[in-house]
Amino acid sequence: PDAPPSVLHAFRTSVARVPDRHALAYFDGRLSYREVDELSDGLANHLTARGFEPGDRLALMLQNIPQFVIALLGAWKAGGTVVPVNPMYKTHELAHILADAGVRAIVCSDRAWDGYVRQTAAGSQVSIALVTSELDLQTRDDHRVLPGDRFPATDAEDLLTAARAAAGPPPTAAPERHGTALISYTSGTTGAPKGAMNTHGNISYNADRQRVMLALPDGSVIFAMAPLFHITGMVAQLSSAIANGATLALTNRFEAGVVLEAFQEYRPAYTVGPATAFMALMARPEATRDHFASFHYIYSGGAPLPPAVVEGFREKFGPYIRNGYGLTECTAPCASVPAGQEAPVDPASGTLSVGVPGPDTVVRIFDELGADVPFGTHGEIGVRGPMVVPGYWNRPEESAAALPGGELRTGDIGFMDEAGWLYVVDRKKDMINASGFKVWPREVEDVLYTHPAVREAAVVGIPDAYRGESVKAYVSLRPDSPAEPADLIAYCKERLAAYKYPREVEILEELPKTTSGKILRRELKARAG
Ligand code: ATP
Repeated sequence: PDAPPSVLHAFRTSVARVPDRHALAYFDGRLSYREVDELSDGLANHLTARGFEPGDRLALMLQNIPQFVIALLGAWKAGGTVVPVNPMYKTHELAHILADAGVRAIVCSDRAWDGYVRQTAAGSQVSIALVTSELDLQTRDDHRVLPGDRFPATDAEDLLTAARAAAGPPPTAAPERHGTALISYTSGTTGAPKGAMNTHGNISYNADRQRVMLALPDGSVIFAMAPLFHITGMVAQLSSAIANGATLALTNRFEAGVVLEAFQEYRPAYTVGPATAFMALMARPEATRDHFASFHYIYSGGAPLPPAVVEGFREKFGPYIRNGYGLTECTAPCASVPAGQEAPVDPASGTLSVGVPGPDTVVRIFDELGADVPFGTHGEIGVRGPMVVPGYWNRPEESAAALPGGELRTGDIGFMDEAGWLYVVDRKKDMINASGFKVWPREVEDVLYTHPAVREAAVVGIPDAYRGESVKAYVSLRPDSPAEPADLIAYCKERLAAYKYPREVEILEELPKTTSGKILRRELKARAG
C-alpha cells in the first residue's frame, strides 16, 4: 500500500505543510499543528528521561481531550506502544490490562488517579504516572491549577507541565510499519478483554484509505463523536484527522446537547458514531436540520445500524448515515458504504448492508468447514487485508485460532450479495435457538426500531422449558410515547415469522451500554437469567 509507514510520519508531514492550522479544537481552546508537535516532543523527551524505552507500553486512559492526542503522539515519538484504556474501567478491568500488557507508564485524569488508579497501578510495573485535568485546555493557560496544588504529596506529574518543561532536541525516531502502535483491548461485550496488536501500518492504511474515499476539502473539521479510546474513534477520527491536516474537534465525552452545540461552533464535515448516538441526537427537541448542514459525510460504525434509524435521521435532519463494519482486530473499518452510494436493504430479512470491502480487502463468507459459501448464503465473515492485526498480545493460541493463515475469523455471521454488498446478520454467539429454529436478535431488533414508540431495543434468548430458548426483547421508549409490552409483541407478531417474534417484552428506562455506545446484550441476558 502507498500509505505512509505510520500515522506519526503522516502527522509530521501535516506539521510541515500546515504548521499554523488548528490540529485540535476543544471548547474554547485551540492547538495548532506546531503546538501539538512541540508538546508531544516534550512529552517524548520526558518519558525517555524517566527511563521509558522503545517498545515499552503506555496506558492511555482519557476521554476525548487534547491531552489524549498529545500523549499518543508523545508515546509513539518515544518509540512506545500505546494501550488505550476505557476511562470508565474500574479496578479489576484496569488491573487486568496493566498486568496483561506489562504497562510501564500510565496517563489518566487527576481524579481517576486520586480515586483508584494509584492503588491499582501500585501492584503493577507502572513506574511513570502522568495526570491531567480534563478541562485544562478549555481555558488554556489562564486558569490552570498547578500540579502541586492538586497533589500535596504528589507521586504523579502533570502531563502538560512535564511536556512543556522537557527541553532537549525533538525526538526523530520514526516507527516501523510492522511495529505495534496500539494494544487494543476488545471491549469485552463477549468475553474477557484480549489485546489486539494494531501495527503502525494497520492504522496508517485505514487513515489513508479514508482520505482517498472521502476526499474532504483540505482543512475540514472532523468531529470526534466516538470515543478515542475505542478503535473507531482512534482510527476513523483521530488518525485520519492528524494524518491529513484536518482539525479534530473534541468535546470530552458524548452528551447529545453538547454535541449539537459543537456542531454549530465547529461546522464539522465528517463524523463517526455508534447508532445509539444518532438515536440520542434524534431525541433532542432542539436539534434542527441546520445542526447537520455542514456535514459531507456521517458514518455509523462498530455496532448494528437499524434501517429505521437511517431513515428517521434523514427525514428529520437531511443527511444519510453510511454504515461501516469493523472490529478492533481490523483496526476499525474493513467494509463501508462508499461515498456517493447508498446501501441496499436485503428484501428477505430487512437487513441494511454494511457496505463493500475496501480495494485491498478480501472478505470471504465460509461455512463450518471453512469452505466458501455461495452469494446470499449465511456463513462466518473472514477478513484479509492491510488493516488486519497480526495477532493478540502474548496469546499465540488465541491468535492462531482467530487468524489462521492471516485471515481474521470475525465471529460474525453474514452474507454477500452478487453485487458485492456485505450484510452482517449477527454475532455467531448471539444466535437464539428457539425450538431448533435460528433466530438472529438483530432482525427482531430492526423490526422493533420501526415502532414509533421504541427508542432502543435489544433481543436475547432466554431459557424455555419447551422451546429450549425463547425470544425476549428489552426496549426503552421515546419520551412521551407510551406503549405496552403486549402492543410491541403484537406489532412484531404481525411482521415476523411465528418462531421469531418476542414472547416477552420488558420495558426499561435505559438499556445497558458500553461507553462506546454498544448495547450490552450480554448484561441483559444475565438479567433475564
Ligand atoms: P468483544 O470482542 O469483547 O466482544 P466487541 O466485539 O464489542 O468486544 P469490537 O471490536 O469493538 O469489540 O466490535 C466488533 C463487533 O461489532 C463486530 O464483530 C460486529 O459484531 C459488531 N459490528 C461492528 N460494526 C457493525 C455493523 N456496521 N453492523 C453490525 N455489527 C457491527
